[in-house]
Amino acid sequence: MGIIEKMRLDGKKIFVTGGARGIGKSVATAFAEAGADIAIIDLDIDEAKKTAIELEKNHGIKSIAIRADVTNPDDVNAMIDIILDKFGRLDVAFCNAGICMNVPAEEMTFEQWKKVIDINLSGVFLTAQAAGKVMLKQGGGSIINTASMSGHIVNVPQPQCSYNASKAGVIQLTKSLAVEWADRNVRVNSISPGYIGTELTLNSPDLQPLIKQWNQMAPLGRMGKPEELQSICVYLAGDTSSFTTGSDFIVDGAFTCI
Ligand code: NAD
Repeated sequence: MGIIEKMRLDGKKIFVTGGARGIGKSVATAFAEAGADIAIIDLDIDEAKKTAIELEKNHGIKSIAIRADVTNPDDVNAMIDIILDKFGRLDVAFCNAGICMNVPAEEMTFEQWKKVIDINLSGVFLTAQAAGKVMLKQGGGSIINTASMSGHIVNVPQPQCSYNASKAGVIQLTKSLAVEWADRNVRVNSISPGYIGTELTLNSPDLQPLIKQWNQMAPLGRMGKPEELQSICVYLAGDTSSFTTGSDFIVDGAFTCI
């Protein structure tokens, strides 16, 4: 079998949190195109259902939509039960749901701080832990967590201390889980995207001045597209990445190099 054939994900069972839109939807689409069955997990169940229907129609795979809040352990356990009931196993988890908040540190309330840490860091822990428990029993699996270039640098001008701290936490959490589970064939990696133009960012009038500034700073002179994160995630999900664990993949058009 050639390398491209080996990279296919036929028959693999995958969940994607924050899969209704943006980066999650784009990566879920690539997983489906590669032959996997997909559970789309999101707070926004209407949009999650639309995405699941689109994946089934366009790629001839099975897809289900589940409403779950990644910060709620009961929701996460229920989501795993549904996946095992419908799919019978879990091979890959893409723990991707996250939010951003731009508030100066001196003005940030503790509630605002906790909200970002809860979703971006504790949500990744809960979903990766739940996936890991299933995969350890099964004898293997691959977990991919969404961090950010903000886990590596403090990007300006927007003040984002809770976001930056949460994403740095995701990178170190990923390495910790990778080391704990390496001997049992559960691999854990993270991706650190740079600025990615999603519907949300591109259509937000408030963000247009910032986007102009980011583009001027970016070595490639532009933001990334969600599709530009697909191939790294398909690689990490599949069997050709068998020696890759505990790694973080920066996909930022060299933004962190400047
Ligand atoms: P998005 O807002 O387009 O999509 C995020 C999805 O997550 C939404 O559908 C939302 O409903 C869902 N979600 C939010 N909170 C949730 C919760 N508690 N439980 C379940 N679902 C929840 O965002 P995006 O731009 O696609 O970002 C996805 C991930 O990528 C995030 O972790 C983000 O921090 C990270 N990231 C984004 C960029 C970027 O420039 N867009 C850059 C680096 C990292």
